[in-house]
Order: sequence, then structure tokens, then C-alpha cells
Amino acid sequence: MKFNTQLIHGGISFDETTGDVSVPIHMASTFKQHKIGESKYEYSRSGNPTREAVEKLIADLEEGASGFAFASGSAAISTIFTLFSSGDHIVVGNDVYGGTFRLIDSVLKRQGLTFTIVDTRDLEAVENAIQNNTKAIYFETPTNPLLRITDIQAVAKIAADHHLLSIVDNTFASPYIQKPIVLGADIVVHSASKYLGGHSDLIAGLVVTKTAELGQKIGYLQNAIGAILAPQESWLLQRGIKTLALRMQRHQSNAQTIFDYLNAHPQVARVYFPGDPNNSDYALAKKQMHGFGAMISFELQAGLNAEAFVENLKVITLAESLGALESLIEVPAKMTHGAIPRDVRIATGIQDELIRLSVGIEDIDDLIADLDQSFDQLSH
Ligand SMILES: *Cc1c(COP(=O)(O)O)cnc(C)c1O
Repeated sequence: MKFNTQLIHGGISFDETTGDVSVPIHMASTFKQHKIGESKYEYSRSGNPTREAVEKLIADLEEGASGFAFASGSAAISTIFTLFSSGDHIVVGNDVYGGTFRLIDSVLKRQGLTFTIVDTRDLEAVENAIQNNTKAIYFETPTNPLLRITDIQAVAKIAADHHLLSIVDNTFASPYIQKPIVLGADIVVHSASKYLGGHSDLIAGLVVTKTAELGQKIGYLQNAIGAILAPQESWLLQRGIKTLALRMQRHQSNAQTIFDYLNAHPQVARVYFPGDPNNSDYALAKKQMHGFGAMISFELQAGLNAEAFVENLKVITLAESLGALESLIEVPAKMTHGAIPRDVRIATGIQDELIRLSVGIEDIDDLIADLDQSFDQLSH
């Protein structure tokens, strides 16, 4: 089955007993057992048919062995990190999601895990960061908000050569654009609150493992920790995923037009977009991704007010989050990345005036007109 068909018919897409073409929402905490130990489901934390449907679907979409659904992307990431024990060391990408950085810095370090933060685009730096007690390499690509691209295949190979797990947060791309497991990664994690859910109406996380053995470990931890996705949300997520391909096509075509517009705009100093042919990551993005995604970051010319620019927009919504139908815009330094100390943030390249845009699926003419009117106000 091709990917676009899998979105609709992959995993478990209908109900065996009734034929419903939409998997029912099984609101049950427990399940009647006819004989002890012979039931498919026992208790909804351990397994629920609605959750199982979306778990099987994401495993199919990422071409992995097992899928797991969590109450949030953060719950999924936290559960993955419980694979490791006090004294273990993990190499982490330097541009990871702020919440992941917070988890590492203020929770996991306290529990005895140690970390080395590196730019995972630099394969030599990745190699050099590996110690005797290293257990995994964890990274995102494209990164947030600078949209830097790491070579998944190359990093997964370094990990495999050293018997480490490679773990990729695939939130910014979605499996429509890239499939880390196919490129050699061991674990893929998503904040499904973004492109997979797609409609700004859901918080969820998903994990897919390359092997069934690793799946058993994650399944054990999912049940032990219990941060599972509820049946209603599981259903909503599966419904959102069905239109992923259609949404991504429009997201990407709108993003390409907006990139060209921003790139040529006299009030814009710099644009960050994996599809920029002048970007040093362009060739890799082209090879590794199916399209360039729909996230664009940019800096205004010096002296122009980024806050006023985002506040004056009328169609494009000033809000955190991304991957939604609505175009969402924000100033990372003041919003999503506000918790990162300023010197650390600037050192990574995230300037105070940087603007991040998640391009939605509205009519492109309205998006361009909205940007136009806000740029006009800046010059007056
Ligand atoms: C949003 C996000 C997360 C966290 O997911 P939640 O669903 O908000 O808990 C993790 N990684 C990335 C890249 C994200 O954008």
C-alpha cells in the first residue's frame, strides 16, 4: 500500500464486529474476561482498542515494528528516557525542543543521567561526544526554530557502529516528509499535537520502534508509567492523520510561495528554510526529505519591530505551536524559547528578533496580503 492509502487504510481502520469505517471510541477502563488470561484487552492503561488502532497506524506510517500513543509528546519523550539508568550518558542535538531541553536539564540530570549537547550536523562532533557509558544519540531534524538539517542516515550509522540507540524527534517533518526508521534510526517520537493531529484541537505523543524487541521495552514502560493517550483523543488523532497527505501538500506549496516572497522582501534580512538553495543544508534536505516542510523562520532588517509585525497580522494567528491548519506565527525569544537563557539562545543563533512561521493551509493570496499589510505598517 502506498503512503497516501495507508493514511486511510493502514493500521486498524475499521471495526471487525460492526464494520464501522471509523474505529469506535472504546470508553472502557476494563474488559470482561471469559477465561483468566485469555483476553485480548484487560485494562485500558495496558491496552485499549481505539488507542491500538492509532498505534498500529503510526507504526505502519513510519515503517516500524511497534507504535505507542501517549498523553503528549512530552510524555512520549519522558517515557523513552526511562529506557536509561543513572550513570548512563546520552548525546543530544543542540537545537532540541525547549521542553525536551527542560526535561533533560532539570529532571533527568537530577536522576543521574548525563548529557553532551552537540550540533548533530557535525558528524565528527557526534563521534567525539561518545563515551564508554553512552547509550543513545537523540536529535531533531529539521530543528526548531532554525530548521537545521541533520543527516539521519549518517548519525544512525554512527549510533549503530557504537551499539547506541538513535532516537529522532520527527515532529517538524511528519512521516509524509521523512521516515527516520527507513534511514536507520531505532526510535521515532512525535508530538502528535502538531502535524499529525493537525487541527490544533489535541495534545498527543507517538513513538515507533524499529524492532519488536525495542517495542516490548517501550510497551512495558508505557504500561508501567501510564502516560497513555485516552480513547477520545486516540480517535481524534486517527481522524486527523487521515488527511495528513492533503494537508502537507497544501502546507508545503504555501510555504514555498511564502519563502520566495520573504526572500525577495526588502524588509527581511534573513530567511531560514530547508528549501532555500543557498542554505548549506539544502542538498541534504533534498535527499532526505520529501519536500521541505512548512516551517519558515526569518529576521527583519535591523531596527524593525518584530513584535509589532506579528501583532499586526490579521489572518496569520499569533500563537505558540505549529503544524496546524491555521498559519501560526511567534517570536521564539519571547515565547517558545523564552525559558532558554539569553546567552545560550544567542549562541545557538536564535536572535531576539527572529520570527517563526508555521504556514497553514489558508488561501495563499490571503496569507501574502496579510504579510503585505503588516510590512506596510512597519514602514510608516
Ligand atoms: C511540541 C513539541 C514537543 C512536545 O510535545 P507536546 O505534545 O507539546 O508535549 C516535542 N518536540 C517537538 C519538536 C515539538 O514541537
